[in-house]
Amino acid sequence: MKASASRTSTPAALVADFGVVTSRSSLSSIKVVKLLPASPVSSLGIQQWLESQGHEFIVSSSKEGPDSDFQKHIVDAEVLITTPFHPGYLTRELMEKAKNLKICVTAGVGSDHIDLDAAVDHNIQVLEVSGSNVVSVAEHVMMSILLLVRNFVPAHEMIERGDWQVSEIARNAFDLEGKVVGTLGAGRIGYRVLQRLQPFNCKELLYYDYAPLPAAAEESVGARRVEGLKDFVSQCDLVTINCPLHEGTRGLINADLLKHFKKGAWIVNTARGAICDKDAIATALASGQINGYAGDVWNVQPAPRDHVWRTMKNHLGGGNGMVPHYSGTTLDAQARYANGTKTILENYFQNRPQEPQNIIVGDGRYESKAYGQC
Ligand code: NAD
Repeated sequence: MKASASRTSTPAALVADFGVVTSRSSLSSIKVVKLLPASPVSSLGIQQWLESQGHEFIVSSSKEGPDSDFQKHIVDAEVLITTPFHPGYLTRELMEKAKNLKICVTAGVGSDHIDLDAAVDHNIQVLEVSGSNVVSVAEHVMMSILLLVRNFVPAHEMIERGDWQVSEIARNAFDLEGKVVGTLGAGRIGYRVLQRLQPFNCKELLYYDYAPLPAAAEESVGARRVEGLKDFVSQCDLVTINCPLHEGTRGLINADLLKHFKKGAWIVNTARGAICDKDAIATALASGQINGYAGDVWNVQPAPRDHVWRTMKNHLGGGNGMVPHYSGTTLDAQARYANGTKTILENYFQNRPQEPQNIIVGDGRYESKAYGQC
């Protein structure tokens, strides 16, 4: 599907979390706001290229409140570039003020920080660099699975403290072999996780997704689809969450569903924090209903200093594998999504069709089924 661009002369780009952007400008009136130090993350390596074409490119991390660069410049920006790691939240209200905005590019994967329904209504295209960091995330999922199952974090903390009580760690350390592992969402990341789990000789690999995998793909990883969510979680020793955040997945893992998990199950969530109910997770961990929770995504980012997920523990003082949102922004991933962002912008500037897999919202309609439009 072509994401066509109805636009006027020189476009502007706004990168909001590391900020870019620009409004329509002539070469003689370039305005560049860049509050972060130059790095592949902050400028995506496209600053010179954009400016050489006469576009104004503003890079900023100032995105909260009416006086922020984000809210100031969104009013006349034509292009908004954001990353999911430190997101600028583009609400319907802000979109209504963004009279020139034509295209939002997510430098990475996951565009839930943009009100997608509002983008449909306002005919604003939303594109991602699909696939750009899926291996990075799948590897982080594998690491998180192992660190929970093997009780790694308390073991390392013990070493830092200067202690050596092996039995204290071993009493909650297990092998991954022989466990039932399931992925909620079996798209690009979920499938790669299943592939990476294969050599661990798990008892069974399961998945829950409204879009069944092709039979050959299912067979190749030896995974079985479970159609009911409660049925799915009740069979898993470990659930890894790999679906987008949308109205059908917000708060999906809540107190009610947690009752259906196997007692002592582990959860790894690198998809989006708000798919899990913050307090229900902390309560389930403290009560022993789950034995561990790990991931890099939070319901609010950056997470407040007193966010319960920073310090929650199971009854043995472990079970917390939380880190800041970085699994999809390794240096390797940054290079891939920077290149992909540039290609999307080139297509837009030259009025060329976008690659179909990158289009979340096209001309006034969803082009992806991954955001609940099944
Ligand atoms: P994808 O579109 O390839 O796969 C998503 C899968 O989720 C699809 O198969 C879809 O059918 C399924 N799905 C959607 N709603 C569902 C529901 N209600 N129940 C079950 N399955 C459902 O996307 P992907 O590349 O695999 O990425 C998945 C998500 O991971 C992204 O949307 C993003 O939120 C997150 N992500 C996180 C990071 C990170 O750095 N932590 C990086 C990249 C992506």
